[in-house]
Amino acid sequence: MSTSDLTPVTAPDCLFCRIVAGDLPATIVASTPRVVAFRDIAPKAPLHVLVVPRDHHADIAQLAAADPALLADLVRLAHEVAQSEADGQFRLVFNTGVDAGQSVFHVHAHLLAGARLGWSPG
Ligand code: 5GP
Ligand code: ZN
Repeated sequence: MSTSDLTPVTAPDCLFCRIVAGDLPATIVASTPRVVAFRDIAPKAPLHVLVVPRDHHADIAQLAAADPALLADLVRLAHEVAQSEADGQFRLVFNTGVDAGQSVFHVHAHLLAGARLGWSPG
């Protein structure tokens, strides 16, 4: 799924589609015509920003298959936010599937930065 006219592909009742559309409030920190970055409502690190494509794709695997250039755009914006809001070092996490911790099925990168991060996902 992707669009040529920059009209986002949306899914009904998708939380992040509604945030991207401006129908629900969020603290937007950066955006491009195809990607939006906003603060996570329950931050797990000093900097915890969600970076999402405006188009609806369920997870990173579906996004990579459908529109790899959009995935690259997303990573690029995450890097820019890590540079502007932290020191440029960052972790990107894409929870993919319920057992991996995914609760919102609109692909989103968790951009985590701003501290020496622990590593204990298991
Ligand atoms: P997941 O569990 O799918 O990997 O990540 C979903 C993330 O969305 C969680 O970190 C959660 O805190 C965040 N989240 C859930 N609802 C909202 C909301 O309404 N606004 C914002 N900004 N973040 C949300
Ligand atoms: Zn969506």
